Amino acid sequence: MNNLFRLLPSMDRVLAVLEGDKALAAAPRPLVREAAQAFLDGLREEIKSGLVTGEAELAFDALSPRIACFARAYARPRLRRVLNATGVVVHTNLGRSVLPESAVAAVVDACRHYSNLEFDLATGQRGSRHSHIEAVLCALTGAEAAMAVNNNAAAVLLTLETLCKGREVVVSRGQLVEIGGSFRVPEVMAKSGAILKEVGATNRTHLRDYEAAIGPDTAALMRVHTSNFRMIGFTKEVPLDELVALGRERGLPVIEDLGSGTLFDFAQAGLPGEPTVREVVAAGADVVTFSGDKVLGGPQAGIIVGKREYVDAIRKNQLARALRLDKMTLAALEAVLRLYLDPEAARREIPTLAMICAAPEELSRKARSLASAVRKAVGGMYDVRVRPGSSRVGGGAFPERDLPTSLVCLYPKDSSLTVDELRARLLDTDPPLVGRVEDDAFCLDPRTLAKDEFPLAARALSQAALKNHA
Ligand SMILES: *Cc1c(COP(=O)(O)O)cnc(C)c1O
Repeated sequence: MNNLFRLLPSMDRVLAVLEGDKALAAAPRPLVREAAQAFLDGLREEIKSGLVTGEAELAFDALSPRIACFARAYARPRLRRVLNATGVVVHTNLGRSVLPESAVAAVVDACRHYSNLEFDLATGQRGSRHSHIEAVLCALTGAEAAMAVNNNAAAVLLTLETLCKGREVVVSRGQLVEIGGSFRVPEVMAKSGAILKEVGATNRTHLRDYEAAIGPDTAALMRVHTSNFRMIGFTKEVPLDELVALGRERGLPVIEDLGSGTLFDFAQAGLPGEPTVREVVAAGADVVTFSGDKVLGGPQAGIIVGKREYVDAIRKNQLARALRLDKMTLAALEAVLRLYLDPEAARREIPTLAMICAAPEELSRKARSLASAVRKAVGGMYDVRVRPGSSRVGGGAFPERDLPTSLVCLYPKDSSLTVDELRARLLDTDPPLVGRVEDDAFCLDPRTLAKDEFPLAARALSQAALKNHA
């Protein structure tokens, strides 16, 4: 073993290999040194634990490709592009929405140059960052006033803190949901200082339950979209218009947390079940909050629309400063909202909408084209077949609704990696490819993969499958 330790290459020799590696040219030098050190430490551990036993494994010619490979992985940025072949369009773990080109251009412009972020060009005086999106949001939703903050969780927190702190908010027990583990309605409410007044039973809440709960300390009535949770069977929730009528009668605002929220009429595209924000505003909700990066297809943001008196109060809250949007997000959000002014343009240009609305024939064509690229890459090792399957919208909208799609499925032949091994290795390709395992096959859903990503997906598959033979 001591002999083996003596064969370890020197730090300088390792560094010399890395200095000559073009793929590392842009990596910070201290990180490259750290990578070299980590590689040598790892090698020492391998010798200690008996993983390396022969001199041949330590020959410098055998080591240098490993050194380069290790350092490239070590020094690359931690937040990376991935290929989403899961078929979940709004995939929270994969960054939710992909922005349309006009929004990307707006972000680049906003961060490369100075802007009128908080400067009124008409007067030369200080302006408000909210002003850039208020008019377009009002036009799209029919609301009197609008603003946006960091995300929908912030929008809910800020709304409650402004309108209900220290007072009671009446919410149906059936809507006290947890969304994605980090947003729980009762906990957000507690953080805002509002006091939760639960009404109804888990499965059924009636108008009379709200009526009975209203007292001198009541500040608002609230409805929460149950998002990725759905109750079936003997259930009842009070419709928004009935709650609005009650709120009017008692002089209480009605707050609606729509979760995903949509500015596009999916029912017209054959996907009923989610009201548009405009419909919710028209039904009389006083404050409506929703996400910018779920079905809307924009950047991470929380949008607040509603009656002027409430939105103005929310905007003036000191907490709004802590939750405000940065200029890049604001630029992206404005660009996305402008696309919605022409619904056809929105459907064509906003990737999230285009993916949700993709026609089955188009998906089947995409699947055949992807399958042929995949066959060329790994056809020797996997049987590649196209078969019907389903995709998901994600983001809590249209819960439990399957969108028909065509999947490209890889079935291992005798000597190839198993489906689970393949899936794991694909997480280490460049870029990583995330698919799903279904019925003993590794499946790629072309709904969430752009056509120009097909060659990358095929390359990732051959990289992953090849390692087996290396
Ligand atoms: C997703 C969701 C939220 C949180 O929205 P973020 O934009 O992720 O902060 C809040 N409420 C509901 C009902 C949701 O579906």
